[in-house]
Amino acid sequence: MGITETDKNFVAASYARFPIELKSGKGSLAYSADGKEYIDLGSGIAVNTFGYSDDRWTAAVTEQLSRLSHTSNLYYTEPAANLARLLCERTGLKKVFFSNSGAEANECAVKVARKYSFDKYGEGRHTIVTLRGSFHGRTITTLSATGQDSFHTLFSPFTEGFVYADADNAEDVKRLAQENNACAVMIELVQGEGGVRALGRDFVSEVFEFCRERDLLLICDEVQTGNGRTGSLYAFQQYGIMPDIVSTAKGLGGGLPIGATMMGERVENVLTPGTHGSTFGGNPVCAAGAFNVIGRLDEAFLSEVRRKSDMIFSQLRGADGVKNVTGLGLMIGIETEKDVRTVINDCRERGVLVLSAKNKLRLLPPLNIPDGLLMKAIGILKECLK
Ligand SMILES: *Cc1c(COP(=O)(O)O)cnc(C)c1O
Repeated sequence: MGITETDKNFVAASYARFPIELKSGKGSLAYSADGKEYIDLGSGIAVNTFGYSDDRWTAAVTEQLSRLSHTSNLYYTEPAANLARLLCERTGLKKVFFSNSGAEANECAVKVARKYSFDKYGEGRHTIVTLRGSFHGRTITTLSATGQDSFHTLFSPFTEGFVYADADNAEDVKRLAQENNACAVMIELVQGEGGVRALGRDFVSEVFEFCRERDLLLICDEVQTGNGRTGSLYAFQQYGIMPDIVSTAKGLGGGLPIGATMMGERVENVLTPGTHGSTFGGNPVCAAGAFNVIGRLDEAFLSEVRRKSDMIFSQLRGADGVKNVTGLGLMIGIETEKDVRTVINDCRERGVLVLSAKNKLRLLPPLNIPDGLLMKAIGILKECLK
């Protein structure tokens, strides 16, 4: 039995996979079992920050792996402590809770927001306003938080306490927050799965001000936008706001599963012993990988991310078959004239891996992709878009 067949027989059928078995990878290149080379503009969905098996990252991870692979959160360990310090220093947030995925990072954000409000105002002030077109995860609560009706079927009953405002409509956010006695507003500064849509600056600052005035917490879901992806360490740093809670995961571990919920001044003491936990959270190996990632995303590196982003935008804007290009940094959405599936398949046949988001093509290249490979891949993509 081949791998494809074994997978089909034994792995739950929740994924519609492409017909390739990836066997190895280095940097921005992936190799399939049948020996074909691909330039990967998807990075394992914004996870492989420095591409596949980056040397310095691999060294940091394997060094930790042979020193102390896992313990429990009953003991102090160096990688998690140092990672938390680094994240706080680089963001201005005050405390970090570590988990293993984006959905869990958001679950923690929801718990912190609700407990902050419960501690201060008592029962009933628990609703969270999220935005239409958002995506916050696959657990029952984060599906509930996701502002897309298509995610609110099949698994009822869902967690209560989420209402959905129109993105870029601050009046709608305010109205829903007031009508529902909300405790928080949760936003993705660039909606990823919802179609790579950057929120407007005015909308974001208006929501930020409103939250400040009413003691609502502003939660930024930076699971996808975080960790250098948009050209700043976190996207909120380009929006001139200071969220109360920032959740992240995907690119944080550079290829290992780690989520983080960062908490600002107002909520830094909300979690107390016993109120939240995770067996694997802050695992030393994952934390060592993440420390390597965050440590390398300095201003010089981030300006390269922005330069590469500008290159892609200028190549694609107005190109044949392109209706428009959206996004921020190396998180890019392309509205295509051709059917997106066709473009993805043509690209794959010609050795370039790209993703979709809703009806758009989505690019999430490794942040350190060399210019030569990037331009080669964009050239092939442009041929396929025509
Ligand atoms: C991917 C994603 C999630 C879910 O992350 P998982 O690690 O798959 O649980 C949540 N929010 C956003 C914005 C995402 O892009």
